[in-house]
Amino acid sequence: MTVLVRSGVGPLCALARAAIPSIWRGNYFSSGNEPAENNPVTPMLRHLIYKIKSTGPITVAEYMKEVLTNPAKGYYVYRDMLGEQGDFITSPEISQIFGELLGIWFISEWMATGKSTAFQLVELGPGRGTLVGDILRVFTQLGSVLKNCDISVHLVEVSQKLSEIQALTLTEEKVPLERNAGSPVYMKGVTKSGIPISWYRHLHDVPKGYSFYLAHEFFDVLPVHKFQKTPQGWREVFIDIDPQISDKLRFVLAPSATPAEAFIQHDETRDHVEVCPDAGVIIEELSQRIALTGGAALVADYGHDGTKTDTFRGFCGHKLHDVLIAPGTADLTADVDFSYLRRMAQGKVASLGPIKQHTFLKNMGIDVRLKVLLDKSNEPSVRQQLLQGYDMLMNPKKMGERFNFFALLPHERLQGGRHQRNARQSKPFASLVAGFSELAWQ
Ligand code: SAH
Repeated sequence: MTVLVRSGVGPLCALARAAIPSIWRGNYFSSGNEPAENNPVTPMLRHLIYKIKSTGPITVAEYMKEVLTNPAKGYYVYRDMLGEQGDFITSPEISQIFGELLGIWFISEWMATGKSTAFQLVELGPGRGTLVGDILRVFTQLGSVLKNCDISVHLVEVSQKLSEIQALTLTEEKVPLERNAGSPVYMKGVTKSGIPISWYRHLHDVPKGYSFYLAHEFFDVLPVHKFQKTPQGWREVFIDIDPQISDKLRFVLAPSATPAEAFIQHDETRDHVEVCPDAGVIIEELSQRIALTGGAALVADYGHDGTKTDTFRGFCGHKLHDVLIAPGTADLTADVDFSYLRRMAQGKVASLGPIKQHTFLKNMGIDVRLKVLLDKSNEPSVRQQLLQGYDMLMNPKKMGERFNFFALLPHERLQGGRHQRNARQSKPFASLVAGFSELAWQ
């Protein structure tokens, strides 16, 4: 499979880092020397130009938010961008084993925390629904283990197009879906295996209750603010219209301090940083929920531990794409700062990770699962696909080292305290957390 996964960081970032100016409306960074035919005036570009003309330059965060999730024209709202025909490919789309191992992770956590009589599986940004579909297949296969547990599925998705694809994948629409665009629960149905499933636009609308949360390649699409250190202090990067070339955007630097500077650490040593307040809000919400009702959250994404500088980039047709060119036609993304996620969880819940994808999947038993599937298949093309998928997920040069796993857990889970709320058996929690150490069934 010759695909470029979205985690690639290429020359574009080096260019952006070198070229951002230190003077507002003086020397400025143009996003590149693209010829006019490569910079089509998309409906999103027109919209942004009107917006900037009327209210002034916008932050990179506002740009990302508009380009990706504007309800009328956003990149994510009306298209299926995943897979080989799309702009990028993700682990669950590469191999069924990925979702299966995550399914095992949730069951392992459910068992380790006392086998509650019910839980919600909540996924943020479910893409095509492939990942949750693979997880639910594992739940069905391990039905004897989960037989007395009431499970419901809750998907947080802003994309109309992708939610329709998820509904088709997960429910086959055997039972008609209930739709109510005006309600926080905009769609409801029943999965192929008979589990109630609901769709929301925001995490805060998902009922509070014992839940397992999953966010795979979700945090990287949340809007980031970009900053550069100058002799006058931190200055935020904005996006403005290029006065030299009509219908072209450029980066500029704010002339004075801006409010998002509050998200930069006082002892920050980098000279360029990206901060993502929305990620902090979501981690806080997840932490409060887990501290209150139990459960766990598993976050998997590409990212760093507070070390990288310029990672904001675009992807179109599996290639790096200039972020300011033809907005609305390419994915925009930035590496997740796991040190920030950890800080936002601190004091409320325990966190584990980030650890590399190849370590996590190895600990979850990927080699055993691959062998079972290979032994079951005589079809050379299926065997080849399984092996190629394994290589893509595990190879350190591909996704193995670029992707990280990070978990939020109630403090009692790691301290061996007793969980009073949802556990049928009140047994101590303390056992190793699968993935972060080798999977061991209790
Ligand atoms: N998890 C999937 C898809 C990743 S792409 C996979 O790994 O294959 C990012 C997903 O997040 C898409 O489903 C997109 O529509 C959704 N998304 C993007 N911004 C969002 C937001 N602000 N709130 C909820 N979902 C969002």
